[in-house]
Amino acid sequence: MSPALEARGVALSFGETPALRGADVTIDTGEIVAVMGPSGSGKSTLLHCLAGILTPDAGEVHALGRRIDELSEADRSELRRDKFGFVFQFGQLVPELTAEENVALPLLLAGVRRDPALARARAWFERLGLDGLGKRRSGELSGGQAQRVALARALVGEPAVVFADEPTGALDSLTGEQVMDLLVDAARRQGTTVVLVTHEARIAAYADREVMVRDGRVTTPAVTS
Ligand code: ADP
Repeated sequence: MSPALEARGVALSFGETPALRGADVTIDTGEIVAVMGPSGSGKSTLLHCLAGILTPDAGEVHALGRRIDELSEADRSELRRDKFGFVFQFGQLVPELTAEENVALPLLLAGVRRDPALARARAWFERLGLDGLGKRRSGELSGGQAQRVALARALVGEPAVVFADEPTGALDSLTGEQVMDLLVDAARRQGTTVVLVTHEARIAAYADREVMVRDGRVTTPAVTS
């Protein structure tokens, strides 16, 4: 079986600033991998390359059996919509929409009709302990609730891969751990591959494996006991 994701010699600079300098990583299907490393080491840039959001200057990116760095922007955007889910540090919910409309959004964008899309969205509210919050707007949710809504939005389309960039970075530690429990549990049930960028060892401990990014390269993980 081919891996879910693979970067080979990926390099990318922002102007004069090299963010990645030949990053190699392979992530198996269904694996939950934490990408660790100091601030500015290239973790988010690597995640964006693996997700087809950024195109590297050099190297190759393979996702779900396709070489994605050579796809057109339209094809990459279709791949992201159909196969990937995203969770960011700040939920980034659409403030004009209710919580359940936010969750249904990926389905609506993929052409699912409104009623079935909302029904599938609502099923996630129960699963994630968000009962009764479906009609609220993001301004009426706590940080932890908003992030669980963001998790539901990432998972509702049953994506092959969820990319989570510091998903607990804006939460207190207990709320962060609840969000990680829900993410890992849902991912395992669905066989979803997860790429989790974090600088917190406590959060990385939820993953099957850790990779370290230093100075734009993936290095062997720090030895932990
Ligand atoms: P990390 O996620 O490990 O904190 P990043 O991937 O965000 O690291 O950044 C790696 C390097 O690239 C840093 O030096 C950062 O300042 C730079 N960088 C990241 N994104 C941009 C951008 N959009 N424009 C310019 N420089 C950027």
